[in-house]
Amino acid sequence: MRSKTPSFILELPLKTTPAHESTILIRLDTGRQLYNACLGECLKRLDLLRQSKEYQSTIKLPKGKERTEAFKNLNKKYEFTEYDIHHYAATVRNSWINEHIGIHIAQTLATRAFRAVQNKAFKKAKHVRFKGKNQFDTLEGKNNQTGLIFRENTLHWSGIEIPCIIDENNNVMAYGLNPEHRIKYCRIVRRKINSINRFYLQLILEGTPYHNPKHKIGYEEIGLDVGPSTIAIVGDNKAELKQFCSDIVPKQKEKRKLQRKLDRQRRSNNPQNYNENGTIKKGKKKWNKSNQYNKTSSEIAELDRKLAAHRKSLHGKDINDIIAMGTRINTEKISYKSWQKNFGKSVLMRAPSMFMGRLKQKAENAGGYLNEFGTQNTKLSQICHTCGVAVKKPFSQRWHTCCDINIQRDLYSAFLSKCVDMNTNTLDLARAGMLWPGLEPVLSEAILRVNQSTSSGNCPDSFGLRNQRQSGSPVKPAASITEAMDVVIRDTIYEDESHGEVI
Ligand SMILES: [Zn+2]
Repeated sequence: MRSKTPSFILELPLKTTPAHESTILIRLDTGRQLYNACLGECLKRLDLLRQSKEYQSTIKLPKGKERTEAFKNLNKKYEFTEYDIHHYAATVRNSWINEHIGIHIAQTLATRAFRAVQNKAFKKAKHVRFKGKNQFDTLEGKNNQTGLIFRENTLHWSGIEIPCIIDENNNVMAYGLNPEHRIKYCRIVRRKINSINRFYLQLILEGTPYHNPKHKIGYEEIGLDVGPSTIAIVGDNKAELKQFCSDIVPKQKEKRKLQRKLDRQRRSNNPQNYNENGTIKKGKKKWNKSNQYNKTSSEIAELDRKLAAHRKSLHGKDINDIIAMGTRINTEKISYKSWQKNFGKSVLMRAPSMFMGRLKQKAENAGGYLNEFGTQNTKLSQICHTCGVAVKKPFSQRWHTCCDINIQRDLYSAFLSKCVDMNTNTLDLARAGMLWPGLEPVLSEAILRVNQSTSSGNCPDSFGLRNQRQSGSPVKPAASITEAMDVVIRDTIYEDESHGEVI
């Protein structure tokens, strides 16, 4: 069992020789085959379980202890447990795989496959994916004593020894390598950068990650609102409204363009695989891949890598800004499903759940918390704290106007989040009434700042400020705003119907 103590990751580049690299690639591919085997076995066992009569009767039981117990026994009977899959992996490994993959690594692979199928069973995931050639990039051990071992700045792994590149002046490395941080286990990672393989060793260490003293930690209580394209932060004396990860949208368009190119190339290389109406023929096919096709394909991979790195840095910047204001954070739980339904996948390309996860970790490391409350009880986007009436607003309505209050909607939601009671997760109207007079000027100031910084006229529609400025009044004929928002929404859906990997 892995310990549940807090942990963080230190990544070290590996100084590999071509011989090392080919060994690692063989091991990664062996790992891939073992993973696929476990995945297939898990799916098979889950199928058998579900076809059984006992399953049909168990699923009809009322929710409760008895039902949970019955499912547990069923899992055991059909050998659909992590333990059983470990056992299966061990038998499969008892072959040529033996010399490439150690038993601990095999077990972590089995666990990974089991979890994937479990997620599908619990409807947390739609599909499980069998990994194709060159699609398997990581292997990990269970501890630092067998399998992947890091000792004296070197990776020891079943007969090969690879030195890590250590930068003495790097504070993050110096902090992580301090012996006070016990190594829980190691993971090897392959990344393709410009079609060239690079290898890294990740140490999973006990403790909290390095804190850069340049980044301040604030003490205000924060109300946060993350929208599909905006982020609003309200503290005690400061508030901010900004765009959320919008910089990656143009890159996303570039990717879409490349994907269309890839599709054209695939078609022109393989006309025999298509029907006259352009659909793909059924049955087994052979696909020819031209050099140009492979080139486009690796361009997409490179763009993907850049996109992920860019997004990570944008997230990091926003997170540091929030932490600099405060670490006790209240926010509404984002409904990712409704986001995807209403705004298309490209909004999820901004990876809000990854953002929240990292923010939570950072806040907790700094001694604070991230409290995510459900929208059902609070209805922050509808309610007015003065009269307490909830009115549904269409997304195009970017301003909250009621009872002499007239404020940008996301900022208002963030303000209300700040007034949500942590114990009951309901809106404390009295507290909101008390805080409002002091915070209203702070929020207005935040809007003023956005106006000034975007006075050139490139203020995003989602802020709802451009319309306000032009008309001199916050109330704008609803039709024209809706039209503008429609364009934004339509664009994002169109741009992004294809890519599969979200978050
Ligand atoms: Zn009101």
